[in-house]
Amino acid sequence: MRIILLGPPGCGKGTQAELLRNNTGLAQLTTGEMLREAVTQGTELGAIAKRHMLEGTLLPDEVIIGLMAERMRSPECSEGYVLDGFPRSLGQAKGLEKVLEQLGHGIDHVLSFNVPEEELVRRLLGRGRADDTEETIRTRLKVYAEQTSPLLDYYKHKGLLRPIEGVGDIKDIHLYICSLIEA
Ligand code: AMP
Repeated sequence: MRIILLGPPGCGKGTQAELLRNNTGLAQLTTGEMLREAVTQGTELGAIAKRHMLEGTLLPDEVIIGLMAERMRSPECSEGYVLDGFPRSLGQAKGLEKVLEQLGHGIDHVLSFNVPEEELVRRLLGRGRADDTEETIRTRLKVYAEQTSPLLDYYKHKGLLRPIEGVGDIKDIHLYICSLIEA
């Protein structure tokens, strides 16, 4: 099974990706974590990532598509995966489609997390990550609205979109997701 988690920063997709990995055995591909690792390791990718992450802007599509294509082809992903934080633009969604064509499979579900904006800001400010300052949060929410939210329609048209109420008990949300993907 292959699943995309879609939603604004702070919507809880990282938490739910981890629960899915632990309870279903699907691989978890979290772009933000991969980029933070690259920053820590001081790689070339890390240098590009650092600048964009502190600004709250997206890295160029081709950089992210290349990174994800490599991971999706790896043996850890052979039984399926959860994409957490990718795709984040129409360009990335189209790039993903090409990679999936080459791999000969498709996406089963796109889970879209709905959380009110004031709750997102409250959660992000409480998290204390380097890119969770008020200014960067504002930019990231704007980038989500402008570049990522068009993907909601894109996947709705493909009949893949599954809305998730992202406010509530973390375990209840996880159980709801399990019931959706098992149905
Ligand atoms: P996240 O941990 O998902 O909130 O991502 C943190 C930051 O990493 C974002 O603000 C972007 O700068 C960068 N990033 C993560 N995923 C992507 C992506 N798919 N495309 C471009 N930039 C990304």
